[in-house]
Amino acid sequence: MARLIDTIEGHAGQWEQLLRQLREGTLAHSLAFTGPAGIGKSRVAWALAQALLCERAPEQRPCGECGSCRRVEQKQSESVLTLEPAGTQIKLEAAHQVLEFLALRRISAARLILVNESHLLNPQAANALLKVVEEPPPGTHFVFIVPEITQLMPTLRSRSQVLRFAPLADDALALGEEIPAWMLRSARGSFEKLAAFRDEEMDDLRQLAFTFLEASVAGRREGLEKLLAGAKDRETALQAVRFLQQGLRDWTLFGTGREIHADMRERLARLPQIEPRRRVGLWAQAQRMESDMIGNVDRALLFENFFYRATGVN
Ligand SMILES: [Zn+2]
Repeated sequence: MARLIDTIEGHAGQWEQLLRQLREGTLAHSLAFTGPAGIGKSRVAWALAQALLCERAPEQRPCGECGSCRRVEQKQSESVLTLEPAGTQIKLEAAHQVLEFLALRRISAARLILVNESHLLNPQAANALLKVVEEPPPGTHFVFIVPEITQLMPTLRSRSQVLRFAPLADDALALGEEIPAWMLRSARGSFEKLAAFRDEEMDDLRQLAFTFLEASVAGRREGLEKLLAGAKDRETALQAVRFLQQGLRDWTLFGTGREIHADMRERLARLPQIEPRRRVGLWAQAQRMESDMIGNVDRALLFENFFYRATGVN
């Protein structure tokens, strides 16, 4: 039993604003929560659901204990509907689900429709939602979760009140624990990423990515072989590419104190001096690797191409 808001680190300003608007009866029927992935936007939306639905709601601060609060906490509330992408899009069927949900007799004071990854709403789905977003039934609230407001369909954007969420400060992320600096910097305010980085295999992968960079620049193939052996699935390979990008970034920012992987400084110091233009070319290639990999280009081929390009920079 819990008030969800008590389980969320940070975002106090956003939360107080939502509560104040709820108390004053000015809470928008359509809200857009913007900010990087994994920083708790969706969790604040669920906390808002408790505030909207709490049976006791003293001054709209949810009690966390009544039946409604508990059903929301367990994500079993009949008054909350969540939409998620199916594959790479939120399709028309999902919008139809919303219309059906709103056609049901309302059994609570409020209803909340939470649309995760709203930038993936396809145009048909967004159009189908337009009318209910514009003239929602009483007590209905939409929350569109999206990294950047410009990624939300303009028709929905113009009808939504935007609430910005910032990445969490490093100290809020660390919560008083000893966490290596590279993890905090690389997680960029995301609890999800930080949790993933704390897996020991993640540090092994990071070492492999740096070894690959060093060996490639020196024209040695062994780094490639090791990395390919270590990055067996697509997710792992994608993370290896991100570490590679960060390694190239740190190489460029070497000595400025702004490096992500400051503990790798000595290894970066041993890399050869090459023309900045070539280094930037490598970095751009590592960026393309990521989108190519998401587009299902063969992983081994992408690492191989990088190796040949890096070998040629000297
Ligand atoms: Zn309650």
